[in-house]
Amino acid sequence: MARPNRCPICDVPVKAENLLRHLDDTHPRHADTPSLKERLRTDERYRPAARPGEGFRVRRWHVATIAAVLLIAAGAYAVAPLLDPWATFSVRSCIPSDPPAYHIHPFLRIDIEGSPYPIPGGIGITSSCTNPVHTHDGHDPTTHFVEVHVEAPVRRSFTLGDFFLVWGQPFSPSQVLSHTEDGTNRVTMTVNGSPNGLYGSLVLADQQQIVITYGP
Ligand SMILES: [Zn+2]
Ligand SMILES: [Zn+2]
Repeated sequence: MARPNRCPICDVPVKAENLLRHLDDTHPRHADTPSLKERLRTDERYRPAARPGEGFRVRRWHVATIAAVLLIAAGAYAVAPLLDPWATFSVRSCIPSDPPAYHIHPFLRIDIEGSPYPIPGGIGITSSCTNPVHTHDGHDPTTHFVEVHVEAPVRRSFTLGDFFLVWGQPFSPSQVLSHTEDGTNRVTMTVNGSPNGLYGSLVLADQQQIVITYGP
């Protein structure tokens, strides 16, 4: 190795720092290559120059790890609804008999042309099924409010529309029960004494006082 900037095998000019790579690339099978490499490795001058970006290289296992994490996250996202026993729970579902996790009581009164309508008890209750929105007792003979029970195994919003759905009675901005807007009478609504225009989309809340009026 008298001439450090030439290859000792083929004698072409090769920078010292590139010689090890040159031997690997050009003379991988040459008889002298193994012993040459052995010696070059112990010599500082022949140490291969660090390539730019050597500090951090995107390696195959980085990509694999990120892909695996994304896959697990996507899998958990897809499976989560299947693990939720109440994923398809709706106002038409039957509530289980154990104490409900969510239990609130709004109050409802319906006035038809000045007379309180007797909202019955037992709405949403049959011998085999109790819907999450239901009544037990009929309307109070003094206040004419019926206590609506909202009972569900999960905390979930129910609407005034859900109550009428379970009851099987029409309710919209132009109709309540069998009474439709006719130019003289119309359907209005108050919640806790204040006018409210949400009608069926009103979300039921505990101790809410809802009054639906059909009249002039
Ligand atoms: Zn209740
Ligand atoms: Zn109940």
